[in-house]
Amino acid sequence: MTVEKEKVIYSVAGEEAIGSFSLMSQEEVDQAIKKASNAQQAWADTEVYKRADILHKWADRLLEQQEKIGTMIYKEVGKNKASAMKEVKRTADLIRYTAEEGCRIHGDMLRGDSFRGGSSNKIAMADREPLGVVLAISPFNYPVNLAASKIAPALISGNAVAFKPASQGALSGRLMIDALLETEIPEGIVQLVTGKGSEIGDFIVTHPEISMISFTGSTEVGQSISEKAKMIPVVLELGGKDPAIVLEDADLDLAADQIVSGAYSYSGQRCTAIKRVLVADGVADQLSEKVKQKVEGLTVGNPEDDAAVTPLIDDKAADFVQGLIDDALEKGATLVTGNKREGKLIHPTLIDDVTSDMDIAWEEPFGPVLPIIRITDDKDFVTLANESQYGLQASIFTADVQKAMEIGRKLHVGSVQLNAKTERGPDHFPFIGAKNSGLGAQGIRRSIESMTRDKLFVLNM
Ligand code: NAD
Repeated sequence: MTVEKEKVIYSVAGEEAIGSFSLMSQEEVDQAIKKASNAQQAWADTEVYKRADILHKWADRLLEQQEKIGTMIYKEVGKNKASAMKEVKRTADLIRYTAEEGCRIHGDMLRGDSFRGGSSNKIAMADREPLGVVLAISPFNYPVNLAASKIAPALISGNAVAFKPASQGALSGRLMIDALLETEIPEGIVQLVTGKGSEIGDFIVTHPEISMISFTGSTEVGQSISEKAKMIPVVLELGGKDPAIVLEDADLDLAADQIVSGAYSYSGQRCTAIKRVLVADGVADQLSEKVKQKVEGLTVGNPEDDAAVTPLIDDKAADFVQGLIDDALEKGATLVTGNKREGKLIHPTLIDDVTSDMDIAWEEPFGPVLPIIRITDDKDFVTLANESQYGLQASIFTADVQKAMEIGRKLHVGSVQLNAKTERGPDHFPFIGAKNSGLGAQGIRRSIESMTRDKLFVLNM
């Protein structure tokens, strides 16, 4: 039997071969992690401002190569060209902010005599120190931005990094790492680890020299990682089923606008895409009509033509979305618009009168289909929203801020957006998943905190 050494990647839309990456063996992965580990202490000893300078140069290189990296992103993961170019720019901004924030890492100073019976002769200084080698695992959908949101905070705080990109996304990830290696980053500190999840997944997650895991991806894989990683910190950002809650007094034009952009951009392949609408029965007909008008105005086609809705990442993803649509329609939901498929391309689909017995009420489609669920009282909004296994974000549309706060406080989610779509970012905002949507928090400062620990020095005078 011949052992495969390379994996060829094809563009999502044209299905042309666009490159390949190595399928590393466990021995190769082991060597890479050990290299990172050996290089880490010298990096931790490097002045913070010098580490920051290197990150700024990395941001410069990314911007210089925006066209090349952006082109790879849109070919490799199928988002439209404008979004791919924006991802590169956003990533450069993220890296710069992280470099600046890293220069503001500081701990606490505590006086002994502020605790009853304590002495003013004792002073504690709690510094922050790096953990060692951070394992960064990223999903396909933001192959550059989500990867950098782990790599940059790890580096600025003095950690080494083993970076495992998704297969579809690894070529964009490699270009981003190449740009970093063009700076004066010391040899060994960043290791790109590529291979089949089945071959190297468990191996990297349980490697004794990995000190922390920052994972973004599906709930299924995240749960398995958290079970396997022993006695090391793990930050997980996972799936979602974000509701848009539309109350009777909402501005329906604003709600429809935000819902359509939130649900269908990048064909719904975003963790924070709006994945269900919970609408007050009294305004449901009007909202459904307004959303329909906007959905029918979306452009559908190829990434390079800047279409709003583009083909999904693979056939399996499209089959899954089609299955959810079929199930809902078989069980009596109303098709408002869409339900047309050309291979991996699913036309934007809106389904009304969705009920709790339909899979689409609960599953994360990761595709351009949106269910509308009609609600008769305020209590049902909260109950139904909270019955989901997920708890990433929720949007509430209403003119009554107090009411929004009342509902928002009861929602089991990481973030509540008032009168706007659910979304990650700006990247310095904390980003949190509750329940099966995650563990711990990201966002630049939170990420730095999660990748460092307190080191206490006590002065006894
Ligand atoms: P995925 O879980 O299939 O893959 C994510 C990463 O995990 C990839 O790099 C993959 O190679 C790796 N992986 C797979 N098996 C592994 C194993 N056994 N051990 C270690 N690593 C393994 O997710 P995906 O399809 O790339 O992305 C889509 C999912 O990610 C959706 O559920 C989406 O909601 C979620 N997501 C969440 C966020 C967030 O911040 N909450 C952001 C983007 C995407």
